[in-house]
Amino acid sequence: MTDQYQAFSKSPIGKFVIKNLGLPSPLELDRFQSATPVIQGAVLFGAAPNSVLTGDIAQVLSNIHANTYAGNNSALQQAAAKVGLSVSAFNDGDKESKFKAVVFDASGIQNSEQLSELHAFFNPIARQIQSSGRVIVVGLTPEQAPTIKQAIAQRALEGFVKSVGKEFKKGIAAQLVYVDKDAGQNIESTLRFVLSPRSAYVSGQVIRVAKANVVDVDWAKPLAGKTAVVTGASRGIGEAIAHVLSRDGAHVICLDVPQQQADLDRVASAIGGSTLAIDITAADAGEKIKAAAAQKGGVDIIIHNAGITRDKTLANMKPELWDLVININLSAIERVNDYLLEHAGINENGRIVCVSSISGIAGNLGQTNYAASKAGVIGVVKFTAPLLQKGITINAVAPGFIETQMTAAIPFAIREAGRRMNSMSQGGQPVDVAETIALFASTASTGLNGNVVRVCGQSLLGA
Ligand code: NAD
Repeated sequence: MTDQYQAFSKSPIGKFVIKNLGLPSPLELDRFQSATPVIQGAVLFGAAPNSVLTGDIAQVLSNIHANTYAGNNSALQQAAAKVGLSVSAFNDGDKESKFKAVVFDASGIQNSEQLSELHAFFNPIARQIQSSGRVIVVGLTPEQAPTIKQAIAQRALEGFVKSVGKEFKKGIAAQLVYVDKDAGQNIESTLRFVLSPRSAYVSGQVIRVAKANVVDVDWAKPLAGKTAVVTGASRGIGEAIAHVLSRDGAHVICLDVPQQQADLDRVASAIGGSTLAIDITAADAGEKIKAAAAQKGGVDIIIHNAGITRDKTLANMKPELWDLVININLSAIERVNDYLLEHAGINENGRIVCVSSISGIAGNLGQTNYAASKAGVIGVVKFTAPLLQKGITINAVAPGFIETQMTAAIPFAIREAGRRMNSMSQGGQPVDVAETIALFASTASTGLNGNVVRVCGQSLLGA
């Protein structure tokens, strides 16, 4: 649905009113276009002394042909030269250069005193980041740091990044990537995502990268030859997921309830996919999914997107509304996963991606059933991830306010509050959720397991 406030804010009178009343001014965010470079604009690259991920980051910047700049940092220059990354000089005191992204390797920060490296690097250039720009800090997983002092300093990065996301405005997104020991070679899919407009509505997030097999992919079609099942695919976020996974090369089986057959056919035919009209709560749903994918080589990817709301305060909530929401949003996911995992229904290096919600993180008035179900989805990810084998991973996205039929049904005042209470001052688009799901679905994302990433423009709720 259209955001009339955003349209108004672009008109001359709107600009005047918004400026004078100090209202939020939502900027049109850059979004990914096929066949464009990962990042369009200059990248400033920095590193704290003794950082250990500089070479891996430089390799990714080299692979994406980033127009890279760096200050006088000999360790960084050497790491860049080693992987063939050409780095232009950025001189101290240069206030003219503008950057589309700033990437800082903070892995060398060993104690809280050394956090001053963040200030020293970012303070001079804080006003030189372009609209829809990116700030990316890469650190070491605190839990694996060799000393408590380093663990504390690395943990501190989270507060820094989240504050940058709130401060920089202009649609600039800030992310923290924590990298496990020896997992530097697994960061490419994540860095590509956070640098590109695919992450338009993701900000203030922490993505954790673990050591895993490095799988070579065609980055233009990272899902080539894969079969993906998307539940709730006939409209809204599910439709966008089906389109994005198909764009990335997958054959998509679009699943929705039989009543949605017409829309399901429309979506599937637009992307050359197939349909599966079943209720995800049916006892044999897992079996039917496995059977439907069998002709296409089996399930490589399953996206648990189908979900409903039945909002009532707890005092007014009938038991059947409670049960319906828990069953569709949570129990059905558990049953389908159990069936597929117990019956070899997911291929090696397979991907399970669940759709949670920030309601499941923050809780929400009138949504005890929904929030319980979506918090449970986070539980599914957290407790399944360590058990998975054969390169299979499970992750979740937690959308905030996304412009769909679901949010169009929210009363006006609450809807407006939901839309504006985030660092981007606007609702997200279904494609923003889909792009984040595509990161987790990617064949290259072997090192991403057990993550929950919010797609909420850094909503204030539950942050
Ligand atoms: P939507 O209502 O537009 O689409 C949901 C789809 O799921 C529908 O096509 C519906 O028919 C299908 N579905 C429902 N029950 C089903 C069942 N039993 N079996 C098979 N299919 C079923 O919703 P949406 O806004 O696109 O939301 C998609 C997901 O994102 C949901 O899980 C929702 O909870 C979550 N989410 C949405 C938002 C938002 O702002 N829109 C925010 C947070 C989370």
